[in-house]
Amino acid sequence: MKAYRLSPDEIYHLKKIERYGGTYSFQRWPEIYWGNPPKELQFSDVPINSYDTDMLGGYHSGKNAEGHIELYQERITACADEIAIDLGLDFETTYADLCYIVLMHEMGHWFTHWCHKDAFQHRRNGYLLQPTEVKETLAQLTVMWSFSRLSNAKVKRRKKIFFHLAEQQSQPYQHVLKFESFYTKRGTVLRRFNDLLDEKDWGIEYLLDGRKHSDIVKDNNL
Ligand SMILES: [Zn+2]
Repeated sequence: MKAYRLSPDEIYHLKKIERYGGTYSFQRWPEIYWGNPPKELQFSDVPINSYDTDMLGGYHSGKNAEGHIELYQERITACADEIAIDLGLDFETTYADLCYIVLMHEMGHWFTHWCHKDAFQHRRNGYLLQPTEVKETLAQLTVMWSFSRLSNAKVKRRKKIFFHLAEQQSQPYQHVLKFESFYTKRGTVLRRFNDLLDEKDWGIEYLLDGRKHSDIVKDNNL
């Protein structure tokens, strides 16, 4: 596979998420490649939503193995073409922005799967047991966190593309839209996410309100 070469701008924004959270750390960034979608995604019986971020790239990992990141160039090209038409943007810029968004999303999967400082074996395993919408919400939020409160023209354009994409995506990717008040509260979300990794079954609502939802259901049944 051909290596994906980071732009100075992507490196600048990666630095914004380098210290992902107090309980996350790493020695080296993950490997990144131009890849192709796995066969099960190419020949699936289930209709594919070509706007879903993980149809445009992937974080590929094993149960006890660090994953690598792939960006699927053909799919990103086709999707960027549609977005450019939808939003009246030029293709080249939209393509670069979409590569950026897919890259940061997959970085989010890598951080939340692999980079735990505390109880790392337990939490890496806990990540695999989380519902899809929890994993996707953390990855989607990572894109927002990479903007780091900046609001220059480039960031505004990327946010516009990100939200346009999210609105067309499948349900697990859309939960991020409920997290508007958390785009600047990385610490809170990550603390709650770590709780989910340790306890596993309070669901996505716990990320939003910090309430243990399986306990609430049990209380109502008393
Ligand atoms: Zn994802």
